[in-house]
Parts: sequence; structure tokens; C-alpha cells
Amino acid sequence: MGKRKSREKPPPKKKIKVDTCFTCPFCNHQGTVECNMDKKNMTGEAVCYICKESYSTTIHYLSEPLDVYSEWLDECERVNKFED
Ligand SMILES: [Zn+2]
Repeated sequence: MGKRKSREKPPPKKKIKVDTCFTCPFCNHQGTVECNMDKKNMTGEAVCYICKESYSTTIHYLSEPLDVYSEWLDECERVNKFED
């Protein structure tokens, strides 16, 4: 008679989505900002599909969606400072 061994399943690995979705600086929804990289025209555009805010900037061939997004955040900060 063999002993019964309880098989331990390895815990499922959580997939962290590192893609093109970011938190919107306007409506603060998470993962609603999508960055589209148009490397043919050298433009990157970040759009929130909740509040429809968008930002576009010039990119280069090494640019990542995160670069477009962080530029947008910088831009927002600048605008906020002017409004004070
Ligand atoms: Zn938004």
C-alpha cells in the first residue's frame, strides 16, 4: 500500500500587466489610459477612455508608452502650477 501524498500545487504566479495602460491624471481611474505609439509618424498619444482626455507628443524609435505617459504627467503638473 502506497502512502498518499498530498500534492502541493505551486502558487499561481500573478501576472503583472506591464503594458500600455496607466492611471489617468484627470479622472484618476486606474488603467484607463492607453498609449498609442505611432513610430511611423514619430508621435505618441495617450488617451483616457473614461474622460477622453488625451495628450500627444513626439517620440523617437526608443520611446516607450511609459515615456509618453510620464511626459503627460509632467505637462499636467506644469499646467497645475500655472493655474495657482
Ligand atoms: Zn480619465
